[in-house]
Amino acid sequence: MKRRGKNSPSIPASLAPLGHVKDITAQEVQAIQEKLNINSIRELVAAASNGLLETVPGITAVQIKNIKRAFKLYKTDDTRVPLWDARFAGQELLRILSLFPEVEKVALAGSLRRCKDTVGDIDILIQSTEADRRKLLYKISRMPQTESIVATGPHHFCVILRNHLQADIRLATHKHYGASLLYYTGSVPYNQYLEKLAGDKGFRFGPLGLTASQTGEYVAGEQETDIFRQLGIDYLEPELREDYDEQTYASFYQIPSLITFNQLKGDMQVHTDWSDGTESIAAIARYLSHTFPHYQYIVITDHVSGNRPNHVLPPVDVYRQAAEIDRINGLMGFDYVKKGLETDILENGEPELANDLLEQSDWVTASIHTDFTRDNTDRLIKACEHPHVHCIGHPSGRMISTRPPYPVNWDAVFDAAARTGTALEINSRPNRLDLNDELVHKAISKGVKLVINSDARTLSHFDFVKLGVSVARRGACGKKDILNTGSWKDIEAFKAAKQRLFRP
Ligand SMILES: [Zn+2]
Repeated sequence: MKRRGKNSPSIPASLAPLGHVKDITAQEVQAIQEKLNINSIRELVAAASNGLLETVPGITAVQIKNIKRAFKLYKTDDTRVPLWDARFAGQELLRILSLFPEVEKVALAGSLRRCKDTVGDIDILIQSTEADRRKLLYKISRMPQTESIVATGPHHFCVILRNHLQADIRLATHKHYGASLLYYTGSVPYNQYLEKLAGDKGFRFGPLGLTASQTGEYVAGEQETDIFRQLGIDYLEPELREDYDEQTYASFYQIPSLITFNQLKGDMQVHTDWSDGTESIAAIARYLSHTFPHYQYIVITDHVSGNRPNHVLPPVDVYRQAAEIDRINGLMGFDYVKKGLETDILENGEPELANDLLEQSDWVTASIHTDFTRDNTDRLIKACEHPHVHCIGHPSGRMISTRPPYPVNWDAVFDAAARTGTALEINSRPNRLDLNDELVHKAISKGVKLVINSDARTLSHFDFVKLGVSVARRGACGKKDILNTGSWKDIEAFKAAKQRLFRP
């Protein structure tokens, strides 16, 4: 940080946080204030967002970047990272921070805690005493993950990590921890909703807690639940704290509880070394039965196609693979491994594979792997209407930040899925997350059943389902909305219900 000169002006209290930004002097704060005629941080944020800082003489591009980072304005599409990467980096920070004796408690906040599918920066909240603040700053600046510290305020360190992500680390004392966690988890519209509820009850809500508007007296703030209780509402899971109206928030309280990873009883899209995976069926079965002991079944769904030369299982080999699955189940003593497949949805909406092959399969997932730009409503509906298709894989076709979803009339597709008893997938691959949270919510409100799958190619990919569970939670799914929280008997019943629709 630059030293203040002898005759330097003092920074007005209303712009004090600007003075905490790296390499910004009081003269420069004054120059910004005078040139842009601003007197509050709110006005500064507006000016920075509108590109006006660039018009202040003497302010460099690096300083502008630091200001934008400190006030969370430095966000472009390419500064957002997939939830999977942000979660990995965030959990690594939590592990390190939790080792510091000054840290009484530490948690993720912001969009990472809300599990948005991409994350702009890593928000972390630490509970510590005021007295330990300087020690903590020193230790955080010396963490191996820290590249630089771009701003420090009394209760906020803005850190650029070596992986180029930004971490906003905030401090709260025991008394304010819950309020700060709630506040810094957001979202902004959800905080506005809480502020309104607080106002109606004669309170004010902020990171320092719930206070009486008249007297400023502290009412609650140690835990999030204390604040919810004082506001007269139920606890709302972080994944649902997005921009909804009051009625929608109220409807969320009716959900008994959101789906959890441990409720899943199986993974229904798994690729092996018979097609484009790296592991044998035997290795996968052994790995999953140890790693995820709550799984009762797994469905092998190698991509079967006669049209493609590579990375697929030729249709003639399906029977050979079935024999191998029988052999493994024999060794395990029960039918843990199910015989599924993934088939292409052709241009006309029909599955590529012949009926006899589909019919003998335990679980058929049909997916669009071609024509990603045209409106695919007709193909998806046609696939739902096929008697032997049980599930539509990665229904929207999006690849986060590389391929937008193709146009689809989702109302029509969800109606078709509900009407025909066809499940839709939440594909959990970090760059897919397809269906996304919004479509998930829409689908279940029309009665569509969803399946959360890893779409794994290798052993580490099986963890992806935890991402899919986050998407389902953001879509307000309870256990009943997710088909693979059921036993295999339940899956058989789901298939039988579809069969009954097609009986002449
Ligand atoms: Zn696929």
